[in-house]
Amino acid sequence: LTTFTDEAKIAFDTLMERTGSLVTPSLRLGVTGLSRAGKTVFITSLVHNLTQGGRMPLFEAHATGRIARAYLQPQPDDAVPRFQYEDHLAALVKDRIWPDSTRAISELRLTIEYQSASSWGRMLSAGKLSIDIVDYPGEWLLDLPLLGKSYSEFSRDSFALANETAHLGFAENWLREAATVDALAPADEMTAQRLARSFTDYLRAGKSDEQALSTLPPGRFLMPGDLEGSPALTFAPLPDLPDGSFKSGSLAAMMERRYESYKTHVVKPFFREHIARLDRQIVLVDAMQAINAGGGAVRDLERALTEILACFRAGRSNMLTGLIQKRIGRILIAATKADHLHHESHNRLEAIVRRLVDRAAKNADMSGAEIDVLAMAAVRATREATVNQNGDTLPVIVGTPLKGEVIDGEVFDGETETAIFPGDLPQNAQAIFEQPEFSPQDRAREAPIRFVRFRPPHIKADLDGIHLSLPHIRLDRAMQFLLGDRLA
Ligand code: GDP
Repeated sequence: LTTFTDEAKIAFDTLMERTGSLVTPSLRLGVTGLSRAGKTVFITSLVHNLTQGGRMPLFEAHATGRIARAYLQPQPDDAVPRFQYEDHLAALVKDRIWPDSTRAISELRLTIEYQSASSWGRMLSAGKLSIDIVDYPGEWLLDLPLLGKSYSEFSRDSFALANETAHLGFAENWLREAATVDALAPADEMTAQRLARSFTDYLRAGKSDEQALSTLPPGRFLMPGDLEGSPALTFAPLPDLPDGSFKSGSLAAMMERRYESYKTHVVKPFFREHIARLDRQIVLVDAMQAINAGGGAVRDLERALTEILACFRAGRSNMLTGLIQKRIGRILIAATKADHLHHESHNRLEAIVRRLVDRAAKNADMSGAEIDVLAMAAVRATREATVNQNGDTLPVIVGTPLKGEVIDGEVFDGETETAIFPGDLPQNAQAIFEQPEFSPQDRAREAPIRFVRFRPPHIKADLDGIHLSLPHIRLDRAMQFLLGDRLA
């Protein structure tokens, strides 16, 4: 029997080698999240830890020594920009600055050579898996509902939302301008540009650091990628549209045509060519920012998550049924930047995100996909310590605040370490949803977590000058969930 299996394996290996990379099994891993959630940092750390053999006790294939090596290879899709891993890594490790964030879609192929854990697996598999990592802005996913809406419906919904109390403050300018135009007047490019600009300004204003309003479509207005300034993005909702079709040559007719072409040429191809081909997905969320901004922001995040999860829903109720045949297998929702908390709060953060995701998954009517939740830090910028204060021992985190950060009146120079007490998350996850809305002035006082922006960690090089891998919190658990079964 041994001879037979050996021979079968040799024959199989030869076949694999002859047909080359065409038969190397591959897995497409989508990485998304709203702007600044931590996508770039996550991918860079994931690749660095895998290629450098970082500390990953919870990633079974690595921990048991079955991974022979992991390396980058040319990606399969020539038309998609490459994820600039080397630049991002140099920023993090050499310059100790955070890399440039995701602005558009990009891709990177990482190939892992491993030994299967079972003898059958060793015989049947090539011991090689290519992971195609696809990085894209979560904002683009929020366009899905537009596919089911006419231009009139999109306009009506946008005006209704802009008139809600939470939005009115930001939308005023755009609403005022929109009220001065006649939708049925002859089309005029300058008017279209002016309205598109003030509509975009309104969408962006709700997303500034101080505000954490839910993200509204069209997604490319916030994250245009390479479409900045193109006619497909030069449209805006118009008020008081008549029923039925619009007079030809009118502003409304022009806006409607551009809206439809946005759907046809931007939204649909994105879902068909990228989302429909994913096998696994990680959605990063900056839960702490929302928690610090109060109950309204948390509910907003829940709404955004519901919409994001709905994109991966299988079955009739999905707008994409015509576009997506394949069902995504596993989805991980990960709260990033857990290194801003003492480890005692990591499980609490996870409990809060679990509650958020349970609600969102229920609203999105998810079934079929395996969903898990995690609190992690792709790159750990702090370490833990304790300080004695008036006889009490307090848990603190220690790190180097970014240049210009102000803590208790002290301005930091980007070189000096400091210890801070980060604060506690409530033990009862539900309490987070019931927090009142904090005004920007009250936030510093009311926010449960003290949020200081730290520099990336200092990473020592070994004797050969090779940098040790980036430290993290629970990144290995994320890998185990997303990749573990394919390396079994
Ligand atoms: P993207 O827009 O989703 O690509 O977000 P980035 O990956 O660029 O992250 C946005 C910012 O969040 C970074 O510039 C860092 O300041 C911060 N950040 C992201 N991940 C981490 C992390 O694991 N730890 C810490 N301390 N900060 C992080």
